[in-house]
Amino acid sequence: MDHPLQCDCGTLRGHVAETHKATRALCYCKDCQAYANALGKAGVLDTYGGTSIVATPPRYVRLTDGLDQLACLSLSPKGLLRWYARCCDTPIANTPRNPKVPYVGLVDRCLVHGEPSLEASFGPIRAVLQTASARGHVAGTPLRNGVAILRLVRTMIVAKLTGAHRPTPFFDEAGEPVIAPAVLSKEERERATRGE
Ligand SMILES: [Zn+2]
Ligand SMILES: [Zn+2]
Repeated sequence: MDHPLQCDCGTLRGHVAETHKATRALCYCKDCQAYANALGKAGVLDTYGGTSIVATPPRYVRLTDGLDQLACLSLSPKGLLRWYARCCDTPIANTPRNPKVPYVGLVDRCLVHGEPSLEASFGPIRAVLQTASARGHVAGTPLRNGVAILRLVRTMIVAKLTGAHRPTPFFDEAGEPVIAPAVLSKEERERATRGE
């Protein structure tokens, strides 16, 4: 099954293929909160500062329209690459800097919420991460969902062994990001972390 993806203004569009291979997670880490704050987009974080993520290998992420609007920032020189649509500051995805790691964490804000629902496409949220930095008490990953996380890790290992970190919309043939990331200064990072 495919699930549609688009930025708020509809310029950047695409879809996620093989939705059953993806795993949903909720991340409360400070960096995900700072990224949402840096973009200044409402409705990315939940009440407790959580970002809902759909994790999948990059070959299942297809960007079909508005690729010239794809932009990238990073909170620090070694931080994750945090992709967004510059036309309307919609967060799109996080990727590691190493192009050989077959992981994309799509920010579910850019996935179309409608028919099919995220639950129908990707299943329930399986993992709740970094709850120590949530703005309030949040329960962590239920034990039974550990299996789903192992499944994600297995999907990534298989993807890596089979060279399936390609194709990817985020890196070129040489393994460089398609857009050079704008790295926040220390001051900008601190402001974003504080939510200013
Ligand atoms: Zn847009
Ligand atoms: Zn995070």
